[in-house]
Amino acid sequence: MKLLEDRIRLEGRVLPGNVLKVDGFLNHRLDIALLDKLGEEFYHLFSEAGVTKILTVEASGIALASLAARYFKVPVVFAKKHKTSNMSREVYSAEVFSFTHNCVYNVAISSHFMDQGDRVLIIDDFLADGNAIKGLASICKQAGAEVVGAGIAVEKGFQGGGDRLREAGLRVESLAVVESMDPEKGILFR
Ligand code: 5GP
Repeated sequence: MKLLEDRIRLEGRVLPGNVLKVDGFLNHRLDIALLDKLGEEFYHLFSEAGVTKILTVEASGIALASLAARYFKVPVVFAKKHKTSNMSREVYSAEVFSFTHNCVYNVAISSHFMDQGDRVLIIDDFLADGNAIKGLASICKQAGAEVVGAGIAVEKGFQGGGDRLREAGLRVESLAVVESMDPEKGILFR
């Protein structure tokens, strides 16, 4: 999506360790008009998928998921992050390795908020190795819900997570796919 790519070119900063910082508009200060356009684009891509729920993970996925939900007219459930796993029957949970923080954390939702037969669109701000998406997909499986796909704002294509998920049969739609990035040479999109 050109609008998002242009904004990343303009404001994105490449940090050491393959981290792309776009916190001026995507996940710290929020450009709501831009996020609304991204949400609308997800709706165009998945409007035929019969989505009944949007699932994301706190905190940075919530704004994007919420703006998309205005178009789908479905609720957003956000998985909460914990340091330890909660094995209660009241929650569906999964372990996720965090690329940015280099640690394992737990994501969990109340079992009351995901039902068998739900058709779930997973939304997140970034896709790198694909671990967050895998954890969220595992939560859906535990609930007996079907994942219709994943809508991502920025995929770092060079980390391969998105392509591995696609090869495994998941529909992954990323609005900007970074093919390479370098503090000196800048950012190239796929
Ligand atoms: P994955 O689980 O696909 O390896 O990483 C996705 C998660 O890590 C996203 O939820 C996002 O919060 C975070 N993340 C991964 N790479 C980056 C990055 O380059 N920049 C930012 N801001 N977040 C990232």
